[in-house]
Amino acid sequence: MKTKNIRPEFVTQFPAVFEQGVLYISEEFETAGHLCCCGCGEKVITPLNPAKWCLRKEGGTVSLSPSIGNWNYACKSHYIITKNKVVEAGQLDARKIAAIQRRDRRDMEHYVAVVAARAGQTPEKASVPIAKKEPKKSLIYEVVAFLKKLWKT
Ligand SMILES: [Zn+2]
Repeated sequence: MKTKNIRPEFVTQFPAVFEQGVLYISEEFETAGHLCCCGCGEKVITPLNPAKWCLRKEGGTVSLSPSIGNWNYACKSHYIITKNKVVEAGQLDARKIAAIQRRDRRDMEHYVAVVAARAGQTPEKASVPIAKKEPKKSLIYEVVAFLKKLWKT
């Protein structure tokens, strides 16, 4: 693991070029991003919402849960970011990865349905891909922003 410690940086929008060892966090768009901690150079984007990752802040440090599994990248690295430290997690076999991906999909479908119900839409209308390159234009972020407004009132 090339990056053993990660530094949180709170931003509104991600920079075009990520720096190794920095966890960019956009609370406005509820997304975090970093370069894969193995050093392969891949950008890892982690949406921060109940169906994806949870960001915990404690005394200047951040933790992300659950673990980050880069199954879609060649490195297939798997690690946990806890209190700014990167802890290598065990390699998972293909069956476990498939199970996690199924669970992620279920969580996401549930989350989208809940958000859509609150927004007065049918789930079909709200189920758009979440991993768009430009978070600002992705419907899910608009829906999340809408949901935040609901929570505030
Ligand atoms: Zn990697």
